[in-house]
Amino acid sequence: MRTIPHVIGGQLREGEGVSPVHNPATGEVTALVPVPEPTLVDEVVAVATQAASTWRTSTQSARTNILFAFRHLLVEHTDELAALVTAEHGKTLADARGEIARGIENVEYACGLAELLKGDFSNQVADGVDVHSLREPVGVVAAITPFNFPVMVPLWMSANALATGNAVILKPSERDPSPAVRLAELLRLAGLPDGVFNVLQGNATTVNQLLEHPGVDAVSFVGSTPVARHVHATASANEKRVQALGGAKNHMVVLADADLDVAADAAINAGFGSAGERCMAISVVVAVGEVADPLVAKIAERLDRLTVGPGDLSTSDFGPVITREHRDRVASYVASAAADGITVVRDGTSLAIGGGFFVGPCLLDGVHPGTRAYDDEIFGPVLGVARVATYDDAVRLINQNPYGNGVALFTRDGNAARRFTRDVTVGMIGINVPIPVPIASYSFGGWKNSLFGHAHMYGPEGIAFYTRAKVVTTRWPQPSDSQIDLGFPTTR
Ligand code: NAD
Repeated sequence: MRTIPHVIGGQLREGEGVSPVHNPATGEVTALVPVPEPTLVDEVVAVATQAASTWRTSTQSARTNILFAFRHLLVEHTDELAALVTAEHGKTLADARGEIARGIENVEYACGLAELLKGDFSNQVADGVDVHSLREPVGVVAAITPFNFPVMVPLWMSANALATGNAVILKPSERDPSPAVRLAELLRLAGLPDGVFNVLQGNATTVNQLLEHPGVDAVSFVGSTPVARHVHATASANEKRVQALGGAKNHMVVLADADLDVAADAAINAGFGSAGERCMAISVVVAVGEVADPLVAKIAERLDRLTVGPGDLSTSDFGPVITREHRDRVASYVASAAADGITVVRDGTSLAIGGGFFVGPCLLDGVHPGTRAYDDEIFGPVLGVARVATYDDAVRLINQNPYGNGVALFTRDGNAARRFTRDVTVGMIGINVPIPVPIASYSFGGWKNSLFGHAHMYGPEGIAFYTRAKVVTTRWPQPSDSQIDLGFPTTR
């Protein structure tokens, strides 16, 4: 059985395979992932620390050239990377190409580092005194990523961390670890010095070793809420800067004036794309007032036209979920919904295609707080519809939800839309846009249980997270200006 290697100091390193990687479309185990010994964790941190000490002094143009070359290689190898993603994650090839394209945006943004790393200068703040600022890399960044975007999320983190002069240790999800190895190879081909970008395979134990390692300076994490909370607490206790993005329960409000065909299409795309395994997936449609019955009918009718199948078939609208256990867990939510008195409009849980981990589309009408189907992040092709009477009820439902990643409003009323953006306690808002993932020049982050730590990911907040500020106050006094004065310096 093939074992997925680590990449340490530019070298592929084998280890004893421990946890299985599946092809979710067939159920077959295709490879094993090693879990490193603590000595290997020490080694990769030492390699990254050494590499960071020279990478931080590399010129901006050298870094920019490497990022440009990397961007070119990512475009050139998109189909090959997409095939790797589909083989281990299960999403369709078109969807995998989409995540790679969104990841490339972050590399393009980082190519602007000459502009992004410009400091400030203040002239003559006091007599003969100037002030300027600069930002320096933090050092060694541990990038810990989830299974659902094995290319895009590593690029969210690495593009800016590398551009700002840090070394990176990527710990990819053990469910789909191969794309990370290919990213390391492409970075090497682009000219990145060995040791600046490393891939350490492993599991929760590996993550905990990184969180406690004194040689790791910063931690970027994306994954589920319980793990994000743990990562934030543990890294903070170990005096590291940390950003930890968690799970989600994204609502899509449909007001009475919305075009219901547009809204139904959006609910399908955002609810069932990638089998619902997106942190920005819509999982609850909030139907306001009279729209509920026609909207549920339109969504159900569209679901009947979807094709579920292997991600490498162009006829598939969405593929399998990630593991057998996850498939069973998703099915348990549909069963519990029925037991909770929620109407199961469509139940795709009995879908079987070979040994794959497939779940067909499920639609639950009447979800509400206090039921598992509403309260939990299901992370599967299950869309709930919550019925509320008014706009205020919709906002209350959203704001009382412990998650605050994404939210969408469908309406033709600009005033209601403007008000909504101010009313909701959610980090990313779409107006007639169901998956409002910000472009790379903005930052990505939720509120409440969707993000622990203050820094959002990528964009300007990413640049700030991966750098430390210095402010330099300068004076060139003549001996005649010098005097003894023990008072606190003022600018007056
Ligand atoms: P996960 O939390 O199980 O795993 C994420 C990473 O943490 C993996 O690398 C894994 O090895 C590691 N890990 C798992 N358990 C751990 C533990 N107990 N201690 C330390 N490390 C641990 O998440 P997942 O199932 O891979 O990904 C899906 C989740 O990620 C969903 O909840 C989804 O909403 C979330 N997600 C959030 C965003 C966002 O931007 N907010 C983006 C993508 C995914």
